[in-house]
Amino acid sequence: MSQSLIGKRVGVLDKGWIELVDMMPHPDSDISGDLAIVNAARVSFLGESKGDDRDKKLLFYLLRNRHTSPFEMVEFKFRVRAPLVTWWQWVRHRTWNMNAQSGRYTPFQESDFYIPDVWRKQSTDNKQASEGVLDELENDDLTGKLLAHYDEGYRLYSEALDKGVSKEMARLFLPGFSVYYTWVTKIDAHNLMQFLRLRMARDAQYEIRVFAAAIHEHFFKPALPWTAEAFVKYILKAE
Ligand SMILES: Cc1cc2nc3c(=O)[nH]c(=O)nc-3n(C[C@H](O)[C@H](O)[C@H](O)COP(=O)(O)OP(=O)(O)OC[C@H]3O[C@@H](n4cnc5c(N)ncnc54)[C@H](O)[C@@H]3O)c2cc1C
Repeated sequence: MSQSLIGKRVGVLDKGWIELVDMMPHPDSDISGDLAIVNAARVSFLGESKGDDRDKKLLFYLLRNRHTSPFEMVEFKFRVRAPLVTWWQWVRHRTWNMNAQSGRYTPFQESDFYIPDVWRKQSTDNKQASEGVLDELENDDLTGKLLAHYDEGYRLYSEALDKGVSKEMARLFLPGFSVYYTWVTKIDAHNLMQFLRLRMARDAQYEIRVFAAAIHEHFFKPALPWTAEAFVKYILKAE
């Protein structure tokens, strides 16, 4: 695995991103992430690598049979910038360790709001989901209104700050679901697969699905190629 994976940042949505800050095992170490999983499993009978073919076979056996604890030996630490609507869904996954930006400490910037490309319509057969999009005219009209709403919210926020109101209270004026937020977060490979399974699924909201897809494509697959292959085969395709 290339060391350039650490520090790699991928853009998501209009101004969000996700960056790999660190990983265990570190890309500089002699042991790849996949091998760390295999070696952890072989502790059961005090052995280590037996060559690529047998190692990969063992890893596939582990995932197929949900022998999950060896996958907890690999960890990913990310920095994420995403709208609050994404954050609120992300934090429901309790196995991520997190530390987030404080809106009590750092003022929000005028450009800190999410502007969607399109307005998705309410799904007719799933009360939580969306399907299809508004036509271009309606789309542009709503986006214009959203921008005006952001301008007004930010103007009132700034006015409150100028009057000496604390940042923790002035933020009540900001459009809550759309403001961009930054956090650092860590998870092991087993629990990451659970997150990816749920949040890459078609019924997950687009604004978190694109982050899950970015993790899968740009970090999980290159960092753990065998595990990623087994994940698709035994978990994603099996569903
Ligand atoms: C499409 C979709 C729609 C959703 N809609 C809603 C909704 O309408 N309302 C809502 O509130 N939530 C909703 N959720 C969130 C969902 O209910 C779960 O909270 C979220 O998916 C996290 O799942 P999890 O428990 O598997 O993950 P994690 O919190 O990461 O936990 C992973 C596993 O660890 C174990 N675990 C972790 N912590 C504990 C603990 N304290 N006690 C016992 N076991 C623990 C459990 O086995 C758990 O399955 C939705 C999720 C999805 C994907």
